[in-house]
Amino acid sequence: METTTSSENMIGWFEEIAKNAGKVQRETLKKILEMNHGVEYLKKWLGDIDVDKMEDEALQSLYTSMVPLASHADLEPYIQRIADGETCPLLTKQPITTLSLSSGTTEGRQKYVPFTSHSSKTTLQIFKLASAYRSRVYPTREGGKILEFIYSSKQFKTKGGLCAGTATTHYFASQEFKLKQQQTNTFTCSPEEVISGGDYKQSTYCHFLLGLFHSRDVEFITSTFAFCIVQALNLFEDYWKELCDDLSNGTLSPRITIPCMRKSVLDLVNPDTELANSVRLKCEVLEELEWYGLIPKLWPNAKYVYSIMTGSMQPYLEKLKHYAGDRLPMVSADYGSTESWIGVNIDPCCAPENVTFTVVPTFSYFEFIPLHRHRHGDEVCDEVGGGGEDYLEDNPVPLSKVKIGQQYEIVLTTFTGLYRYRLGDVVEVAGFYKETPKLNFICRRKLILTINIDKNTEKDLQLAVQKGSQPLNNVRTELVDFTSHADISNQPGHYIVYWEIKGKVNDEILGQCCNDIDAAFVDHGYVVSRKANSIGPLELCIVERGTFKKIMEHFIGNGATMSQFKTPRCTTNQALLKILNLYTVKRFYSTTYE
Ligand code: AMP
Repeated sequence: METTTSSENMIGWFEEIAKNAGKVQRETLKKILEMNHGVEYLKKWLGDIDVDKMEDEALQSLYTSMVPLASHADLEPYIQRIADGETCPLLTKQPITTLSLSSGTTEGRQKYVPFTSHSSKTTLQIFKLASAYRSRVYPTREGGKILEFIYSSKQFKTKGGLCAGTATTHYFASQEFKLKQQQTNTFTCSPEEVISGGDYKQSTYCHFLLGLFHSRDVEFITSTFAFCIVQALNLFEDYWKELCDDLSNGTLSPRITIPCMRKSVLDLVNPDTELANSVRLKCEVLEELEWYGLIPKLWPNAKYVYSIMTGSMQPYLEKLKHYAGDRLPMVSADYGSTESWIGVNIDPCCAPENVTFTVVPTFSYFEFIPLHRHRHGDEVCDEVGGGGEDYLEDNPVPLSKVKIGQQYEIVLTTFTGLYRYRLGDVVEVAGFYKETPKLNFICRRKLILTINIDKNTEKDLQLAVQKGSQPLNNVRTELVDFTSHADISNQPGHYIVYWEIKGKVNDEILGQCCNDIDAAFVDHGYVVSRKANSIGPLELCIVERGTFKKIMEHFIGNGATMSQFKTPRCTTNQALLKILNLYTVKRFYSTTYE
């Protein structure tokens, strides 16, 4: 991808900042505060203190003692004023002209976050850095292609005339993305018109047509989140015959109705009957094999699959491995958010289940709130900051003070005007690379399932579902997707887990799954409440095939983009519950605690 020299330069740069991570962090904080000296938000807490004249260390302790921890809600009034067109320096000295929408699928509603050229620059930087590490282990051919399932959504104007859209959309529209496309030696198969078409089914079809057309040159397959590749390959199972016809004739299916998308694709493809016949033959065999090994069969020169496969993407990993035929390496992509990039995967050979993200200390100023799981009758430490009842907290520590094995919530101070902003992600320090921590992503912090004294996070639910779905493996049935809801509409309240499955399975096995999920929640509060019947039997609802696709389409219809979509693992959203309940075809109640 990158030339060897620029790759090695990137790695050299990173090694240097990793070696001095503590110092680099203090300098990063100073830079942010110097850049934004005197903005309304900082003035409120720091007054007129002249940060230029302060030593880095003194500034770090002054800053953390005077500026409070903040949630998105604390900064929202400022961001709203910016969105409404106020131009005085509120959060940053440089005027903010663009706002990003975080995907909203993790917290249930979309949030505006400032986006500046710094955001695109760091995206390009982390892209180059990760690619430098990848090409050391999996070198790709110069002039090769990437089959990228990427999608941008529409940008729109806020009341004050600012450009708004998702961070990925802004990035795809930025100079930095164009620069990346020009500077790297490996290119996305699809042109801009396909990426930004605004209709994910049409874009996916074209991604495939171009990906097949260039199949011999495809060096790797990627998307932001693993879900996107799985969803795309799922569509491929329906599209392949039509795709073969188009390949053979150099035509484009009438399902592509967006004129500029049609033109851009037709300009790039020529009839290739030989290729079409070979793809058709392969697909006929693959269909018999339930599409096992589809990726290496159709893209024989692909070296790996690259995507975020951790956190809420982990449940799609099995399916992705199935499509990759268990042979092709799965490379887990980096860790970041709309608010800031955080860590890079510098060990591409590591299995996605064990991947760590090495913090890049120039991206933002990072703090870490030590977290301890609540244990009943066991006061682990004082609760500080009132961040919720899921964990007990200690005071935040700087990056240089984190400890291996400890879990933390990440706090960001960014170049884009977020100060001591609680991101809401829980990470665990797995080790260090030189002086900078390597993080395991654990989950979103927000408690997702709770009725009374029980506390289960996204990770707990994921593990329970993983255990509970094991009986499905024996009958070749696949869990396609899942979500949950803590139902308190009747007493006692109870957990509902919604499953979409593919394959035939009898009710006895599903009943067993339901019991196994219930038994797999080992949180003390849950177990005690279940035994006392202050939480009722867990309910497992099986939904019709395609229900989760409807949910995704519901989100996309409301402005989320396919590139950032994550299935909510727990929902109280009435529209979603309506879809789920409407398509529930079977219900099971646990007998675990009878
Ligand atoms: P958004 O800003 O809405 O696109 O989502 C950002 C969130 O996605 C982060 O705060 C994490 O919760 C999650 N996320 C991003 N990267 C990763 C990753 N590599 N592994 C697990 N979760 C991730």
